[in-house]
Amino acid sequence: MTLMSKSVALFAAVTVAGAAAAGGSAQAPVPAGYDAVFPPGTPNPYNKFFTGQSYLQPIIREGVPAFNVTFEPGCRNFWHIHNAKKGGGQILLAVAGRGWYQEEGKPARELKKGDAVYIAPGVKHWHGAARDSWFTHIALEVPAEGGSTTWCEPVSDEEYGRLP
Ligand code: MN
Repeated sequence: MTLMSKSVALFAAVTVAGAAAAGGSAQAPVPAGYDAVFPPGTPNPYNKFFTGQSYLQPIIREGVPAFNVTFEPGCRNFWHIHNAKKGGGQILLAVAGRGWYQEEGKPARELKKGDAVYIAPGVKHWHGAARDSWFTHIALEVPAEGGSTTWCEPVSDEEYGRLP
């Protein structure tokens, strides 16, 4: 495929995604053939706690709230902590693309479709895309008493840039 025809194919994919969202906010401009399960979502209202653009699609709010989160290449959330007095924490189910999960003081873990992560309450961490790939995970909020999230500093370009 020539460079030119590749550009045209990408443009077509963006146009289709935009048309599907007619009447609402634009859906994430994921690449053609991006094999996610749920719609990629619209711009994330929590993007002030992210580096780069992420997109949010609520899946279900009852029982165990679940959200589809799509990260553009290079996008990641700030270091943060899911707090709870009882229960709580977060589960990530990777469904498309390539991304990262990292707990403070530990090496980053690569995430690909089919990977699952349990994040205990009180653990400082971040999650996001690889620099060269879109990434989508489903985030499950484990029911908690006294649940909240503490947002901390961004993942620096220096530490993120060391990841392959
Ligand atoms: Mn988290």
